[in-house]
Amino acid sequence: MLEGKVALVTGGARGIGRSITLELARNGADVAFTYKRSAQLAESLAAEVRSMGRKVLPLEADATSMNSAVEVIGKVVAEFKRLDILVNNAGITKDSLLLRMSEEDWDSVIQTNLKSVFNYTKAAARTMMGQRYGKIINMSSVVGLIGNAGQSNYAASKSGIIGFTKSIAKELASRNILVNAVAPGYIDTDMTAALTEEQRKAVTDAIPLKRVAKPDDVAKVVLFLASPDADYITGQVIAVDGGMSV
Ligand code: NDP
Repeated sequence: MLEGKVALVTGGARGIGRSITLELARNGADVAFTYKRSAQLAESLAAEVRSMGRKVLPLEADATSMNSAVEVIGKVVAEFKRLDILVNNAGITKDSLLLRMSEEDWDSVIQTNLKSVFNYTKAAARTMMGQRYGKIINMSSVVGLIGNAGQSNYAASKSGIIGFTKSIAKELASRNILVNAVAPGYIDTDMTAALTEEQRKAVTDAIPLKRVAKPDDVAKVVLFLASPDADYITGQVIAVDGGMSV
């Protein structure tokens, strides 16, 4: 489905990003991915992708840095000669209620989740414009749609991604670059592992489907958006949340 295509996933070594990287490779794409701390997991992921017969390029990079984003895109294009699919996945949480939220916690969540999307989209846009082809898929969240007490920094970053996605979809449509967002609900990863059993039950109760999702549930939707089946879809937000945002 994606033979001949080149994808880049930020924060690809673990969690949802890892599933996405594997799903894109499984469907024929050559893949580059970035990681910040997960060097060992990056190595095992690269080996897994190679065993599928696809090319892979793991790159250590902090997603908050514009210089580093420009460098990463340069390396991807030098290696693969093109870039078709960009998945802006890297993200963190630093939760607390407003009065307890430090300026540092606000800034680092906005920098990591929102500014990183600007960095990589801007750095990739010129290559995609030259190709007259590109798919950009940004990882928002159900929290960006409906908000969440204790996550105002995270919600602001994820709502910001939605506004950015819609604006850039309009800006780049004439160059055949399609820009969409995915808004996952509660996905079983390290990010959600910190919840207590009680908190987990409360969250599950709030999901109409009454179960949490696996990273693969998100990766399948990213694959759809990256595939030719979604060539008339741009500027959209697809919730993968078991009905949480309804
Ligand atoms: P994890 O905590 O499991 O993984 C986070 C990923 O982001 C890691 O690959 C990590 O890389 C990367 N990352 C974090 N900071 C940076 C940085 N500064 N530079 C580069 N990479 C960075 O999270 P998930 O897999 O659960 O989340 C992936 C995305 O999905 C995030 O954007 C998250 O907000 C979103 N999401 C998750 C939901 C969930 O329920 N899990 C729900 C809705 C949205 P490394 O380990 O190498 O540092």
